[in-house]
Amino acid sequence: MADSGSSTATLRLTIGDLKIAHPITVPNAAVPARDIVPALQGLVNAAVTAAESGQAISCRKGCGACCRQLVPVSRTEGERLLDLVEAMPKERRREIRRRFAAAEAVLAPAGFDKRTGKTDRELSTTYFALGVACPFLEEESCSIHEERPLICREYLVTSPPELCAGPLQEGVTPVAVPKISLAARKLQDEKDEWFPLALLMMWGRSRPKGGTRRTGPEWVQRFLKGVAG
Ligand code: SF4
Repeated sequence: MADSGSSTATLRLTIGDLKIAHPITVPNAAVPARDIVPALQGLVNAAVTAAESGQAISCRKGCGACCRQLVPVSRTEGERLLDLVEAMPKERRREIRRRFAAAEAVLAPAGFDKRTGKTDRELSTTYFALGVACPFLEEESCSIHEERPLICREYLVTSPPELCAGPLQEGVTPVAVPKISLAARKLQDEKDEWFPLALLMMWGRSRPKGGTRRTGPEWVQRFLKGVAG
């Protein structure tokens, strides 16, 4: 279905045993990739709902143990999150920026600005050991819940919440959610790039400018290609 400004279609995906049917609406105009993030959020939400069906999820508001993990974010989502921070009221923006600066003061000297020579496992273990809370975490809850990154949506556990605070997360049982968020890293023309969410402001200072504009349906096709690949 299409009007002059947007197109709506029901996406039907089969990923392993999961079948997902979800309507998405995207702009018809040529836009930057960040403009289709809301559609991708809905798609990831639908995949998570299908994956968690019938399981006893332990995650609750007020438990933010997983928000001290390394959260990899793509350029596409990074640009949207920067816009989100810029749109905040001045005092709030200042506080969020202060938290990002504090996180950066720990993470950059620890090598997370470059992340070379380490496996993903080493990076995630080292990161968690530093105990850096996500700058968006408030009173152990996500302060940008509706806008949280795709990968945050995909992390749910059925094991006791206290296990998530362990240094190696031993005994933690994540729900087997298909990680379709990874396809967001392949939307842009450059190679599969990501950065830790807590370094959003650092990344923002040197991020690539410009970027390709595509119509919403073209971005969705590209995303689905990334999911399939
Ligand atoms: S964005 Fe929200 S859910 Fe994701 S790590 Fe930060 S506080 Fe947690």
